[in-house]
Amino acid sequence: MIVDAHLHLDCEKHNSISDAAKKLEIERVNAGIDHCIVLHLLAQGYSSLEFCQAIKPYPRLHGMVNVDPLGESALIELTNAILKLDFVGLKLHPRLQGFDLGNPKVEALVKHAGSLSVPVLIDAFPDGTNLEAGFSPLAFASLARRCPSTKIIVAHMGGHYVFDFMMLAKRIPNMYFDVSYSLLYYRGSSLPGDMVYAIKSMKSNRIFYGSDYPDRPLDKSLELSKAVLVENKLSVEMTKNLLGENAADFFGLKYEY
Ligand SMILES: [Zn+2]
Repeated sequence: MIVDAHLHLDCEKHNSISDAAKKLEIERVNAGIDHCIVLHLLAQGYSSLEFCQAIKPYPRLHGMVNVDPLGESALIELTNAILKLDFVGLKLHPRLQGFDLGNPKVEALVKHAGSLSVPVLIDAFPDGTNLEAGFSPLAFASLARRCPSTKIIVAHMGGHYVFDFMMLAKRIPNMYFDVSYSLLYYRGSSLPGDMVYAIKSMKSNRIFYGSDYPDRPLDKSLELSKAVLVENKLSVEMTKNLLGENAADFFGLKYEY
């Protein structure tokens, strides 16, 4: 079972969102990926309804909805997306959406996701902009502590903060990770090895594979990521967990669809 648990639609290259979804489905099949968790982004200019309709023809594509936590009707929008539009979780992007993780409205929305039994994936790539804005693993930890009934996926494994996040996750059971972008972005540095160390240290639990497509073609990301795992001697068992078993359990995905 291979699950790509963090990717997007390539809306820049295609004329319509339905073409982008169609192209993704073709790439998914070619790459031998069983399921994809596709992240909706309001910044791409499509509503949750448009996004839902675009991926609906493809049962192996599952969406996480992007909602503005500061919006008046954030809780209602999330409820509708989960109950009526078949989204499987909430995606938040503090930098793109311009909010602070300490905002009480964010806490309310993240708690609401937990009450709907869906996870929340939050962008956690410490690029220069995020660092200047005061990026801190503690902000994620604090949110996870305040929302203990919500499973929070820290995207990109927190980049170079991977050890801080690993140590925090050992104390905070509702913190999860995906390795997207970081595993390949930092190739040539010690970081991919550090990420694999963290995967081993966490006994390969609570960590998912992701490509952050359209960063690279789906098959290329998978091939390069597998090479990093082999190079850093991740066991066959743990590799299976990372590449699909964990996400399949977490999202309740099956081979038959
Ligand atoms: Zn992403």
